[in-house]
Amino acid sequence: MSILVKDVLLDGKVTSAYIEDNRISELGRKIEADTVIDGKKKALLPGLVNAHTHGAMTLLRSYADDMKLQDWLETRIWPAEKMLTREDIYTGTKLACLEMIRSGTTCFNDMYFHMDMAAKAVQEMGLRAVLCEGFIDHMDKDAGEEILGPTRKITERIANLRSQRIMPAWGPHAIYTVSTESLRTFRQLSDETGYPIHMHLSETRKEVDDCKKDFGRSPVSYLESIGFLSDRCVFAHGVWLQPDETALLARRRAKVVHNPVSNMKLSAGRAIPYGDLVKAGVQISLGTDGAASNNNLDMFQTLKFAALLQKFAADDQTIASAKEIWDLGTLGGAKTLGLDAGVVREGSLADLILVDLTKVFMVPNHNLYSNLVYAASGDCIDTTICDGKILMKGRKVRGEDGIIDEASKAAKNLVRRVSDGQSS
Ligand SMILES: [Zn+2]
Repeated sequence: MSILVKDVLLDGKVTSAYIEDNRISELGRKIEADTVIDGKKKALLPGLVNAHTHGAMTLLRSYADDMKLQDWLETRIWPAEKMLTREDIYTGTKLACLEMIRSGTTCFNDMYFHMDMAAKAVQEMGLRAVLCEGFIDHMDKDAGEEILGPTRKITERIANLRSQRIMPAWGPHAIYTVSTESLRTFRQLSDETGYPIHMHLSETRKEVDDCKKDFGRSPVSYLESIGFLSDRCVFAHGVWLQPDETALLARRRAKVVHNPVSNMKLSAGRAIPYGDLVKAGVQISLGTDGAASNNNLDMFQTLKFAALLQKFAADDQTIASAKEIWDLGTLGGAKTLGLDAGVVREGSLADLILVDLTKVFMVPNHNLYSNLVYAASGDCIDTTICDGKILMKGRKVRGEDGIIDEASKAAKNLVRRVSDGQSS
């Protein structure tokens, strides 16, 4: 299977890209291919990597907003999550994949429940994903031991797909929901399997205060003290990291995923210490977080919010430039997840997007990266290619009407079950 994208703008020059199987095989030459895509008035770029999300939360989009965090979680989100079925996860993840394909994301790092069903959805939709079963033992190590069995089984099921596109990870939810003993077990499991660990960290001031109260240390120093940190750790948020913690993360080569839209919507209280992280040399990437706290999976909004939040917080217009932020959303994500992607280069994985340069917000094109970060939305994506397969062309995705219908029905049924449960 081969694809030729011809007469396309790449790094400021009109050229051609030849894709063979799942890799970019040649740039610059027009070679006969099974499929030819006309790249005129389009730019060829690496697909975006959404490095932290909860895909099936799309079913809870607009279900509850503008509430106090604890109220929102306890009275709306958790009761609804309790009612999610395996089928809901499949349907919600398909909706998430559709939204990501339509907005130029080719790979995502997902944590939720019944993740073998998410894997089924990803397999059908053609995206690349790292999937972990979210693990919560409510700080009870005995409960943790019990849940670990099912968690391992689901992780094995994902691994057994032996898909080039779908990779398993371990997903202890956070330091305030998972006991020290279980965290140690996850480090061990990660050592044994080589799978990454995807976890929330230092999202709120309360989390940091509680950690100091319970363990006498800051979150990162607590994790270091139990031997948890490694280069396979991918930490979402890191809003409240202190300079000594960023230095420790850098030393252990742990990664941080910044979720600016979610942080602002849930009023995390301050901006991530971006300058410190960059100076320390921590690998940063970008994520949307789930659709209940964003409320979409459009990485273009995340790019813009990431840049603007830093400029605003640092009172410095020069920090977090458009090109720097674009690179975090593409190459930063690929490096975080250990993928040979995130750049348009011969030999790299063919996870690519074509941006329509005739969209009104892309005109004029004095600076492509400025347009992508400050002006664009996911609507600028004309074509999405993942693993050498075309998932969207001319903004058409196979089966999208059915996916939208099914998801609307599933969300309606879910809300009905929640209110029946609450009234009975
Ligand atoms: Zn999250």
